[in-house]
Amino acid sequence: MPPTIRLSSKAKRLLDHTDTDIVDRYMEYLTEEPDRHIWLGPKLLIDVDQIIRRRFACNTHLCLKQSRAKSNGKVKAKTRYSCCWDLEVQLLPTEIEAIERQLDLVLPHHPDVARHVRRHGFWKYDSEWWKIFQKKKNGSCVFLTWNEMMGMHVCSLHSTALREGLPLDRIKPLICRMFPIFLLETDDINIITFYCEETHRILFEDDYERMNCLHDNPHALDRVYIAMADTLRSLVGENGYAKLEREADRILASE
Ligand code: SF4
Ligand code: SF4
Repeated sequence: MPPTIRLSSKAKRLLDHTDTDIVDRYMEYLTEEPDRHIWLGPKLLIDVDQIIRRRFACNTHLCLKQSRAKSNGKVKAKTRYSCCWDLEVQLLPTEIEAIERQLDLVLPHHPDVARHVRRHGFWKYDSEWWKIFQKKKNGSCVFLTWNEMMGMHVCSLHSTALREGLPLDRIKPLICRMFPIFLLETDDINIITFYCEETHRILFEDDYERMNCLHDNPHALDRVYIAMADTLRSLVGENGYAKLEREADRILASE
């Protein structure tokens, strides 16, 4: 009869430890030092380095090469690596319906978008039957467009919301509103953090390296909680955001 081999309790502890989920280990890292986290509620944790200390700006000069043709003055763009070009945006049925309801406000102001949408629609199935945004011929999201006044490419859904005074969640999909902020859910805690070098392993993604806006750059003047205030308000509510601002003031004043 072969000898019975039992794991020592020390080895069992080691195995338990190596088996912990990456999100649990991240949460442990955040909560072991008071200056790494704040609680916005009993179950809502904020990564202070990513949301309060980090600076960020969404500016398409960082992610697109934009040039004006001498012949007709048209502005062309190529991607350096952009979330509105190189990523696929998966859409919920309710998000598709929301965009459909507002299309009459979007298309008259954006003829390039209108041309595509009238011929092909704005969404399609991908190879795993997710509904995703269509791409224009050049490869960009169907709703990315040139804004002459701003001198840059912008999201036509976002600019429609600003022009018409619509809340962003009435027209722009959640993923587009949130990026590069993301929400992690464990069994009983939610964590709000930011996609970057320090956190990319949680998502098993590494394209942050190619996104200029996720690194230090001259456009990134505001802290994330200010640059992404609307997104954070929609995640944590007005009271939650007011508490986040108070905590940010306290933390930054002491540094
Ligand atoms: S979040 Fe970054 S990659 Fe996406 S549009 Fe803004 S600047 Fe470009
Ligand atoms: S809908 Fe707007 S934010 Fe979303 S991918 Fe398209 S252009 Fe970018």
